[in-house]
Amino acid sequence: MFCPFLHWAPLILTLCNIHIGQVAVEIKYQLKSLSQRRSEPFTPEDNIGFGRIRTDHMFLMDYDNGQWLNPRIIPYGPLPISPGAMALHYGQAIFEGAKAFLHSDEEIYTFRLDKNTERLNESAKIMCMPEVPKEMQMQAIEALIDVERLWFPRQTGACLYIRPFLFATEDNISVRSSQNYTFCVMLSPSGAYYPEGNNNAISLLISKTYHRAVSGGTGSAKAAGNYAASLRAGIAAKEKGAAQVLYLDSTNQRIEEAGAMNHFHVLKDGSIIIPEFTDTILKSITSQSVLALGELLGCNIRQETVYLDKFIADIESGDIVEAGGFGTAAVVSAVGHYIFEDGTKLKVGNGEVGPTTHKLYALYSAIQTGQHPDELAWLKQVPHRLA
Ligand SMILES: *Cc1c(COP(=O)(O)O)cnc(C)c1O
Repeated sequence: MFCPFLHWAPLILTLCNIHIGQVAVEIKYQLKSLSQRRSEPFTPEDNIGFGRIRTDHMFLMDYDNGQWLNPRIIPYGPLPISPGAMALHYGQAIFEGAKAFLHSDEEIYTFRLDKNTERLNESAKIMCMPEVPKEMQMQAIEALIDVERLWFPRQTGACLYIRPFLFATEDNISVRSSQNYTFCVMLSPSGAYYPEGNNNAISLLISKTYHRAVSGGTGSAKAAGNYAASLRAGIAAKEKGAAQVLYLDSTNQRIEEAGAMNHFHVLKDGSIIIPEFTDTILKSITSQSVLALGELLGCNIRQETVYLDKFIADIESGDIVEAGGFGTAAVVSAVGHYIFEDGTKLKVGNGEVGPTTHKLYALYSAIQTGQHPDELAWLKQVPHRLA
């Protein structure tokens, strides 16, 4: 690969030929000058929070005439977008969230990024948007991380959070799917999701008023609109003293999700139960990974339909001893209490983070950070492309 690097130019232009199968995709690099970009490793003293910081650059690519065009890495900044862009009116917008980790060999590794690229395309199908070939997504993300290596935050529990997203840009206000799109990737150096450690259990409001998704809807797509639609439920939860909502199906019988995480609970015998995936549940990669770890370790981790009445009865009888949520950002969040809409509280176990939840979190993080063997080959080293 030939990458001329013009150090003296105010904007550094380089071209890398990246081969996708037989096709060579050329990513154009239009980088900030060396004096304007990070030149030293990022060693923040205080916790930098989650998702707050950006890096120097972003990846962009446009869709026109049925083709992906002009893949480029440019300085991070505002995007020119028509006021009539269809994403702004009718909400064709989807996203992904993944993480990369710095290991002790000083290399950066993405975690199960292939699953995110697949899921973006599943969301795209649901939202009538064009797919972005998996390999193209992979190359885009790896090339951007490669440019931003110095931005990896050197802090305990930190990661590089990866946010790929796709939105409709055609300037047209007829109601149909857009003919133009932009695929963008931005990175956020992030600190531990729970800076004080995964030691505090949260509360969930059991809402029979608000629902996240209905059968036949878009609940299994990682669509921006699903999040907008969940905001008032989130506010209702906070008003009742809960961190998030426990979403039920629209008939209020089955447990679906814990805010923007999949839900799980732990039985007295140690088995872990995750609600069966339906078209109203987002297929969490964390859940799928936990299921795969269960298989590897010979633990009983399974998916079942979870009925609310039985769930409550089993917590009261002590048959359910722990509960929580799975998602990339926090990995595992323990639930200590459920709160009903009338304000009454239901304590799970002793209301604190239980041993199974704790062990699961520790194992998962150890695999991600390279402290535990990556037996299922979930980590992929980010290749060095730039000289
Ligand atoms: C992103 C998301 C999750 C978690 O999925 P991960 O792949 O584990 O990050 C769960 N539920 C909803 C609604 C989500 O949007």
